[in-house]
Amino acid sequence: MLVDIVTVFPEYFDVVNLSLMGKARAKGLLDIRVRNLRDWTHDVHHSVDDTPVGGGAGMVMKPEVWGACLDDLLAEGPSPVLVMPNPSAPLFTQRQATELSHVERLVFGCGRYEGYDARIPEYYRGQGVDVREYSIGDYVLNGGEVAVTAMLEAIVRLLPGFMGNPESIVEESYTGRDALLEHRQYTKPALWRGMAVPDVLLGGDHARVDRFRRDEALRRTSEIRPDLIAALDCTHLDKADRRVLEDLGWDVSGAHPTRVSPEKDR
Ligand code: SAM
Repeated sequence: MLVDIVTVFPEYFDVVNLSLMGKARAKGLLDIRVRNLRDWTHDVHHSVDDTPVGGGAGMVMKPEVWGACLDDLLAEGPSPVLVMPNPSAPLFTQRQATELSHVERLVFGCGRYEGYDARIPEYYRGQGVDVREYSIGDYVLNGGEVAVTAMLEAIVRLLPGFMGNPESIVEESYTGRDALLEHRQYTKPALWRGMAVPDVLLGGDHARVDRFRRDEALRRTSEIRPDLIAALDCTHLDKADRRVLEDLGWDVSGAHPTRVSPEKDR
């Protein structure tokens, strides 16, 4: 995968040389090029922002500088998906990470200040570019760099060959057909500060372990993210799943579970 990141703080992205991402770059799985947006300015101050039209606090990123930069990057090919982080955009989730892990090239544009001029994504959409604006959560960061780092890591860890053990991404939270939260994890020792690992995990009975973990995933998801339970396809539920969900106050007789008694979660 080829990745271009446009930012006014290129040094932020020193992190891409660390850990598994650094190894993936070294292995040639991933080519990341970090671009300084100021390289596309022509004034002595290398300014990338200006005051908001209509008034208001702060500064807005100028369309001319972004336009010059993105025109050059798009001309380099292959045709990318352009991702612009924005707190007032749809949420970036595992679904988007999975989808974007299949593209050949990504260009990320990091906003700063009060954000970028709204015409930038609109213009490139009009040019036929696949432009995505995503928020990484309901809070405001100073800039897009942290958001891009989070999205990039979620995407590239799904690339074939990225993880040492590919199995480790198969049964994770938000992943797979049911996209539940994962069950809790334990390691040795079996007893730590008076706290024991659940007995069933020590017994060596894989079917019982699987059932225990599935029940726990359903319970935790019901408690923490009921929206994910409500999105389940009931035809995928086995008898034991149905029993657990009914005990938790869900009606599983329709296409998707519906809440009948929320108080049962507590
Ligand atoms: N004025 C904007 C608003 O209220 O929605 C906030 C701009 S923020 C200070 C500057 C830049 O940081 C944004 O253009 C975006 O690139 C990035 N950013 C901040 N919070 C983000 C979030 N939750 N998700 C994605 N990007 C974010």
